[in-house]
Amino acid sequence: MAARPAPYLDDLNPAQRAAVEALDGPVLMLAGAGTGKTKALTARIVHLLRMSKARPNEVLAVTFTNKAAREMKLRVGRMLGEVAEGMPWMGTFHSLSVKILRRHAELVGLKSNFTILDTDDQVRLLKQLIVAANIDEKRWPARMLAGMIDGWKNRALVPERVPSSEAGGYANRGTELYAQYQERLRTLNACDFGDLLLHCVTIFQSHPDVLAQYQRWFRYILVDEYQDTNVCQYLWLRLLAQAHRNICCVGDDDQSIYGWRGAEVGNILRFEKDFPGAHVVRLEQNYRSTPHILAAASGVIAGNAGRLGKTLWTEVQEGHKVRLIGHWDGEDEARWIGEEIEALQRGTRGMDPVGLDGQAILVRASHQMRAFEDRFLTIGLPYRVIGGPRFYERQEIRDAMAYFRLAVSPEDDLAFERVVNVPKRGLGDKAQADIQRAARMAGVSLHEGARELVASGGIGGKGAGQLRAFVEGIDRWHALTLDAVRVAGDDDVLEPIGAVAPAMDHVRLAEMILEESGYTEMWQNDKTPEAPGRLENLKELVKALEQFDNLQGFLEHVALIMDNETEEAGEKVSIMTLHAAKGLEFPVVFLPGWEDGLFPSQRSMDESGLKGLEEERRLAYVGITRAEELCTISFASNRRVYGQWQSQMPSRFIDELPPAHVEVLTPPGLYGGGFGAAAPVAVSAMEERVSKADVYNSPGWRRMQDRAQTRGMAQPREARGMVIDATALSSHSEGDRVFHRKFGYGIVIGIEGDKLEIDFSKAGIKKVVAGFVVDADD
Ligand code: ATP
Ligand code: MG
Repeated sequence: MAARPAPYLDDLNPAQRAAVEALDGPVLMLAGAGTGKTKALTARIVHLLRMSKARPNEVLAVTFTNKAAREMKLRVGRMLGEVAEGMPWMGTFHSLSVKILRRHAELVGLKSNFTILDTDDQVRLLKQLIVAANIDEKRWPARMLAGMIDGWKNRALVPERVPSSEAGGYANRGTELYAQYQERLRTLNACDFGDLLLHCVTIFQSHPDVLAQYQRWFRYILVDEYQDTNVCQYLWLRLLAQAHRNICCVGDDDQSIYGWRGAEVGNILRFEKDFPGAHVVRLEQNYRSTPHILAAASGVIAGNAGRLGKTLWTEVQEGHKVRLIGHWDGEDEARWIGEEIEALQRGTRGMDPVGLDGQAILVRASHQMRAFEDRFLTIGLPYRVIGGPRFYERQEIRDAMAYFRLAVSPEDDLAFERVVNVPKRGLGDKAQADIQRAARMAGVSLHEGARELVASGGIGGKGAGQLRAFVEGIDRWHALTLDAVRVAGDDDVLEPIGAVAPAMDHVRLAEMILEESGYTEMWQNDKTPEAPGRLENLKELVKALEQFDNLQGFLEHVALIMDNETEEAGEKVSIMTLHAAKGLEFPVVFLPGWEDGLFPSQRSMDESGLKGLEEERRLAYVGITRAEELCTISFASNRRVYGQWQSQMPSRFIDELPPAHVEVLTPPGLYGGGFGAAAPVAVSAMEERVSKADVYNSPGWRRMQDRAQTRGMAQPREARGMVIDATALSSHSEGDRVFHRKFGYGIVIGIEGDKLEIDFSKAGIKKVVAGFVVDADD
């Protein structure tokens, strides 16, 4: 090939170039965000091919997400131009492992057409095994075992290798169940996600000939986002690389954010031990962000102990400070961000216009997305959700919606099918087929069919009782959605004579349905790492309901949203979690919800030790460093949880932002315009930290609080008869006489957190949220 100067080398700095040109032997590129690690890695692939060190299929590149793999393929393809004869193996650990495993499935007792189970299948299988072993599944839930098994697999532990110290629980039969589970998978010709990697490792370890074949084949190995590999992935890499040692790993210990999934930062340190003489490259020049953004990120991450430590600098001189702004509540935050995005798109704020593709909102928890999705749909701002389904497409949301649909219309057969056995009601395939048949024969809905089946004794076992309860539950919920209760004539009640009110407030009804059906409980008992997020999403769903008059209206709203689903071309704002944002960059980044308990998460704050909190801090670092030109951090002083205002404290990470690089914006809306009209709060001395006091003492903040307070009194919610006021939380004590719009007068007989147990003179004893009652004597 002609020795034309290689353009892909020309735009690298000397350190990057060194990493690209050191083709043989182990290379570890350890560098901060935006220093061009991925860029160098990509150039290295091209260089390997251009230097004829390897043919395309002899190069193996591992990325963290399929999206990253696609991007890398695109870039490599472009750099190679038309001369490319085939492409290197580029993909995630999982996608690459599937390919390998299909070729050697028989070595682990599978056929090459094995199926890959999802979490639901996995749990169903484990449950069968737990029940068969006569272990109390209530006490030892299948999901928890699934989590344990995943953990073992992440650490490359086959059943025989699980330390006895970890075999507790499940009547000391955890590992035995693990072994049985593996056996069952084999009979089913199936494997779970963790197996994909672990089976490869097992094959490599027990079949040296196969390993040797792959070692010959993959002569050069490259790994991006190396800091997030777990033990099993590390072994996978080491086995493949140990013969030729041509392995290049790039990573940043400050961006290790998958500890909760078994990733071990220690793998970085292990690398130098396992591959002695490794060429260690450090990159320090950042090409992505302005100095203020970098300084803010560095200021936050400096709070972590035990870092490998590195400096970052940039040649860029100018730029915006990181902006910090507080809002009254999450809805205000979404509204403000929507307006900002449109303003930036038009080209204000002293910047050139930034298209929607160049703007992103990065949230800590997926339930935060809902407020943005709703707002953007309202104002017609195109958006996409990256790295996960949109809010209303999530499993738990769809399940919950199915319950609501049944409450509104019991003959909704699709909804019935979806949740008749979710949570499990002891209704197997046969029972469900029986229901279908009963309904078909009688020409009625599944709900009615089920009723008849129960009545005629056509269904046996413990499923019968549970099915009856389900059918009756739907009847009850349905009745409560109807405008049924006339409260007139009851002189204890303030409703005007003749008024007709729904039998129950629809928000409370929704909560009740999720509770009575056992759906909420199902996730409460779930021990997988996703469960808390799902519960949060359910709370968020209930919160969304408050903006509608009834369940029906809400269901229509969602149906319309879902109808909008088809992805149109054109620029869109990206919404994603911080986790999904790894490796990406955007000119404009919004980081909402920086509040203690949300970010850092409550769990990390409750944990003893600093591990969780440090991982959250790395997430903050990842978030800030995604921004090229403008980074805006925001928080709300109130969030609504279960219809209850909860006051929030700004995140402790806000205290860690170096003030010299932060501009505190005055809350919007006070001066009749955007923040442009408002004077930013001056943050004084260089060395001073931006404290919560700075924010709270700013005149704008105080005025906003005043405004909000007045506004709070006139909330539309109050007009509907519910006083939602955080002060209500503490204002009741046992013996108080209170009034509730639906249940009338009563006496508080117990207090449990934000819930009151009240003995209503008409309705009997009920538990209600404190914010929904007022003092009767006021
Ligand atoms: P992260 O840690 O976030 O994954 P990274 O180290 O992988 O970041 P890249 O994404 O490779 O960084 O690069 C960040 C940005 O800097 C990209 O836009 C890239 O094109 C640019 N860049 C990298 N190196 C150079 C260089 N030598 N000259 C000009 N631009 C560069
Ligand atoms: Mg990268």
